[in-house]
Amino acid sequence: MHAIGIDIGGTKIAGALVDDLGQIVRFDRRPTHAVDIQNIEDTVVAMITELADGYDVAAVGVAAAGFIDAAQSTVYYAPNISYRNEPFREKLERRVPFRVIIENDANAAGWAEFRYGAGRLVSDMCMLTIGTGVGGAIVSSDRMFRGGFGAAAELGHMRVVPDGLPCGCGARGCIEQYGSGRALLRYANELADAGGVGIALAAARTRVGVLTGHEVSELIQAGDPGALAALRELGHWIGQASASLAAVLDPQLFVIGGGVAQAGDLLLDPIRQSFLDNLPARGYHPEPEFRIAELVNDAGVVGAADLARLYAAQI
Ligand SMILES: [Zn+2]
Repeated sequence: MHAIGIDIGGTKIAGALVDDLGQIVRFDRRPTHAVDIQNIEDTVVAMITELADGYDVAAVGVAAAGFIDAAQSTVYYAPNISYRNEPFREKLERRVPFRVIIENDANAAGWAEFRYGAGRLVSDMCMLTIGTGVGGAIVSSDRMFRGGFGAAAELGHMRVVPDGLPCGCGARGCIEQYGSGRALLRYANELADAGGVGIALAAARTRVGVLTGHEVSELIQAGDPGALAALRELGHWIGQASASLAAVLDPQLFVIGGGVAQAGDLLLDPIRQSFLDNLPARGYHPEPEFRIAELVNDAGVVGAADLARLYAAQI
């Protein structure tokens, strides 16, 4: 039976009709009006109706950034959209003839990797998504780990530096401030300021006016020593955080996703090195694998649809 996955991002809403092998049968994408909650609801209802047309649909999964309650029905808070205690599930179920679940977007992407991507051969997996910020998902004993209140796996807000840099969450020293795409740009700018190995980064900054992820990733691909040093710094922090996560969760696999993961082994190598340098009980603790995510763009909709199908099968 098919299921529908919807992924509400800050600028786009993606939707897909997905079969029970995780293959996308139909796809749709529309702009997000981030401050107009009614518009988002209307758009999602229209997308569900069109995607479902002519098919038997088991359920609908909606992925959204932010804190979702343990009953998977209410968005407590979303950073990029004006949701505050939004009873989204109830509102949608009143308007479409399907069961609906709401899921955190990083959890949905992690679940898709676990079912159909890099994590399909393991039972315990931890995913770190390195985009502008750092997202996370945990699968433990073949189940999505949501915690007691539904807000688990906010791995980007794990503290790695006591009293460190202030974070958007209100705390200080979160890994998001040291291992995100934004942090990569900070390292690149610091190297450009220092001259020496950062000379090509400085030249790119002068040419474009401001360093963006595009220039830095081009220099990484070209093997520029400055850009690679910035990437190694990021990898160092992600490896450290992964070592702490391994002590707590003992996953067989870490999946690294997000835009920065396009660097592939150039990113995984420093992560693995730093992981081993910081792993508690090194030499005795079994060592997990590190892999790049496989379902880059479709993970949110595929994961949300799959979770909805599994939910519908349980009731
Ligand atoms: Zn934080």
